Amino acid sequence: MRIGIDLGGTKIEGIALERAGVLVRRRVAAPRGDYDATIIAVRDLITAIQKDTGRAGTIGIGIPGAISAKTGVVKNANSTWLNGKPFQHDLERALGRRVRVSNDANCFVLSEATDGAAAGAQTVFGVIIGTGTGGGIVIDGRVLEGHHRIAGEWGHNPLPWPAVEELPGPACYCGAFGCIETFLSGPGLVRTYAGLNGGQDDADAAEIAARAGAGDAAASQALAMYEGRLARALASIINVIDPDIIVLGGGLSNIKRLYTNVPAIWKPFVFSDTADTPLVGARHGDSSGVRGAAWLWQEGEHE
Ligand SMILES: [Zn+2]
Repeated sequence: MRIGIDLGGTKIEGIALERAGVLVRRRVAAPRGDYDATIIAVRDLITAIQKDTGRAGTIGIGIPGAISAKTGVVKNANSTWLNGKPFQHDLERALGRRVRVSNDANCFVLSEATDGAAAGAQTVFGVIIGTGTGGGIVIDGRVLEGHHRIAGEWGHNPLPWPAVEELPGPACYCGAFGCIETFLSGPGLVRTYAGLNGGQDDADAAEIAARAGAGDAAASQALAMYEGRLARALASIINVIDPDIIVLGGGLSNIKRLYTNVPAIWKPFVFSDTADTPLVGARHGDSSGVRGAAWLWQEGEHE
């Protein structure tokens, strides 16, 4: 049995997973801003899951950041109370057990590569496009963590092949301008739409897609611009790792037209005579993060 925990900013979700499927699913509110309470909440969630099933399992955790390879503390987490803390060490001490920890976008890709929309593919790139644009790479069923544990983190690269009017691009919280995330996150799409709609940012990404479908000119133009940018951003990934498939998750992955329009647009940017990389939506939806955390331990692996 594998236990997976998805440590989110507002909730902590846990499952027990077997080959046959999910045995138990539990969810608690995240103790926002309180690191010590977070450790206790995760420990208690794991204890409860083991009590539910009457069994012990391997433990994998997805976090909204990364464990620094150099110092062992959390970095890049938008749940900022985790940053600078030795999360894995403290949790292992609280449990008296070994755990594996990875970035939540990596867990998403691992889930889809293991038994989701990318099952059977050797090299998978995945992105969660929602409040941010976290990415990850899975090769042969394993997360490619990277030398600094940032592999797949494309969101703070600049938008590739920018048009003049896309420069310098919106200011990003990271300090740079024109990061991919500032264009391709949900707030990025809303900003683009507002710019075409007299400054009105009264619609979220789903509403913009609905308005485009209903013939709203500004919404249609905003989505077309979004597709062009997503196509260029993904073409730069194809040119570097040439994945067998690309999987989209997060709220914006529900916009169906992306899957036909974007691969048509990226062709001239891909350095190849053919460009037929499949672009697909996640199979497990919001559950991919917690499922992928469980899959951080593969079949037959023990502590
Ligand atoms: Zn940035």
